[in-house]
Amino acid sequence: NYQETLPVPDTPDEVHNLSIEFNRLLQSLNQQVLRNRQFVSDASHELRTPIAGIRGHVALVQRHGRDHPEIIPDSLTAIDGESLKMQHLIESLLQLSRMDQAELQRSNVDLVSVISKGVAQLQPQVSQTIRLQVPAHAEAYVNADSVDQILSALVMNAHKYSAADSVIDVVLLETGPRVTLMVSDNGVGIPDDEKPKVFDRFYRVDSSRSKKVAGTGLGLAIVQKIVELNDGDVTIADNKPRGTRFVVTLPGKNENVI
Ligand code: ADP
Repeated sequence: NYQETLPVPDTPDEVHNLSIEFNRLLQSLNQQVLRNRQFVSDASHELRTPIAGIRGHVALVQRHGRDHPEIIPDSLTAIDGESLKMQHLIESLLQLSRMDQAELQRSNVDLVSVISKGVAQLQPQVSQTIRLQVPAHAEAYVNADSVDQILSALVMNAHKYSAADSVIDVVLLETGPRVTLMVSDNGVGIPDDEKPKVFDRFYRVDSSRSKKVAGTGLGLAIVQKIVELNDGDVTIADNKPRGTRFVVTLPGKNENVI
């Protein structure tokens, strides 16, 4: 109800304050509309690339497949790869849009157990050795599935952007009222001026380098969103002597909840 949320002004001062508030709201709405428009345009562009690839190979086979059937298997492999890219992209887009309306169920979660199980599941999927360091006990007031998603996205990125035989460190720390999860690798690293940008939707560092590695540029946007929904925050630091460290802090145990 409008009348309940915005006070009816009756002095010039109140009218003035209300108009300032109104303009602020209008500005933030405008920015949101612009952001949405940019997002739709970026998403369309990203989908257009694999579609062009698929159509190119279909045309190639239509034109030369009869006389040169030996080209068909390669084209089929390429078409399969491009449609897989589209599938990943669409799944990530759906996940992002679902999270716009999401309200997460949170509870006091035993992070030591969730992270240990998560690492055990991820280890067979990566060539690197995952080194796990956890305290005896750490609880966080979060959604347990969110923790799995964050851990998996960060470990899979560490895997993608570092040497096949290197080490990935997963460290959990109790830091006062909050809990900190760190995922570090010894890979290519992220330059300082790129660090804030990698959380943007579709952003990939140095496309020529990233293009060699499959990805949508949506993974970290999703991580940031999930972390925020859990009242946490995520930052990037350098790992010494090389590589990247993602630092996620989450709210610790909520004593008011059983
Ligand atoms: P994707 O990996 O699908 O490209 P992300 O949103 O997960 O998308 O990451 C965005 C970009 O950030 C990547 O393309 C890569 O350039 C950079 N990046 C992410 N994680 C790492 C990492 N651990 N080390 C180096 N660069 C990374």
